[in-house]
Amino acid sequence: GTGTVSSSVETHVRVVARFRPPITEHEETDDAAFLIHAGDDSPSVALGVAERAAVQSQDGRFRFEFDTAFGEEASQEVAYQRIGRPAVQEVLAGYNGTILMYGQTGSGKTFSLFGSFTEPTLRGLAPRAAEELVQQCLSSEMEESTIQCSFLEIYRERMRDLLHPSNQSLRIKEIPQRGLIVDGLTQDEITSSGDILKALDTGNAWRSVAATRQNAYSSRSHAIFTLYVSRRSLTEACRERTGKLSLVDLAGSERVSRSHCVGETLEEAKKINASLTALGKVIDALVERRGHVPYRDSTLTRVLEEALGGNSRTTLMVTASACAQHMEETLCSLRFATRAQ
Ligand code: ADP
Ligand code: MG
Repeated sequence: GTGTVSSSVETHVRVVARFRPPITEHEETDDAAFLIHAGDDSPSVALGVAERAAVQSQDGRFRFEFDTAFGEEASQEVAYQRIGRPAVQEVLAGYNGTILMYGQTGSGKTFSLFGSFTEPTLRGLAPRAAEELVQQCLSSEMEESTIQCSFLEIYRERMRDLLHPSNQSLRIKEIPQRGLIVDGLTQDEITSSGDILKALDTGNAWRSVAATRQNAYSSRSHAIFTLYVSRRSLTEACRERTGKLSLVDLAGSERVSRSHCVGETLEEAKKINASLTALGKVIDALVERRGHVPYRDSTLTRVLEEALGGNSRTTLMVTASACAQHMEETLCSLRFATRAQ
């Protein structure tokens, strides 16, 4: 259909889009199917970053509005300044911050969230956010802070601790006064940027070990890197603030029929897409402030209940390629994202 999906009144879900540059020769010779319009309406895909931007298809048939849109040459630093830093500030103010990466496989979810650790300019949101939290918390003389992290993977509704991979088959447990926890998921203390990079490296290495054994693995698993901050005032008794930042690298959003691969039953593949559908329904219910939020429909949404509901600030980043060959999947992703406004 034709038409504008307009942004709504203020909600706690910010929706942003990030377009990656062409990465293959084939893509380089392809036409761009999408353009980003900044406030002045002059279109440019190469635009670094635009606030309150519209993303429009070349033929003008589709138009989507975003709080922020990043063009293909937007750096990791710029993405952090616009998306990561505000989330870190919210966590320091005592909210739960959540950033979700949504998009088809190969669109840049992992690059945006984790990036490359060998080249500092290519580091993604997670290491930058962790580093800033460590710096801000551990330098304060008025407060005593602890920062911990955990790295959870959900694959076919099963959970594994990516920092301690012998912790397999984790279960969700309900604890009185605390709510749902993932039983057995370790929270490791971090006190320096070295600790952060080591944790991220360990977790991402375990993900890629699994990925080489099984082709579809990395595109079909969800990974949740969480930073927990607890700050206790040294001057005011009883004043303790806790917050957490959940950074979520979602499974590829491509539809089952196309990505369905050998050795995997259709039922298994459907499970993966079902958790993204469940996530969409949860976000819909939160944005529309419905009384009933269907967290229970998937492991992903159960685990993220606290990170999405109540006292939280969520950013949904849709990653995409502007190339014409990816147009259909990109349209699906943009639709998913703008539905959340
Ligand atoms: P996904 O996690 O969504 O499957 P990746 O993050 O692995 O996708 O990205 C696919 C490829 O594109 C990687 O080689 C990555 O380095 C590259 N890439 C993704 N986004 C960008 C970007 N914004 N700038 C430069 N390269 C990117
Ligand atoms: Mg990935």
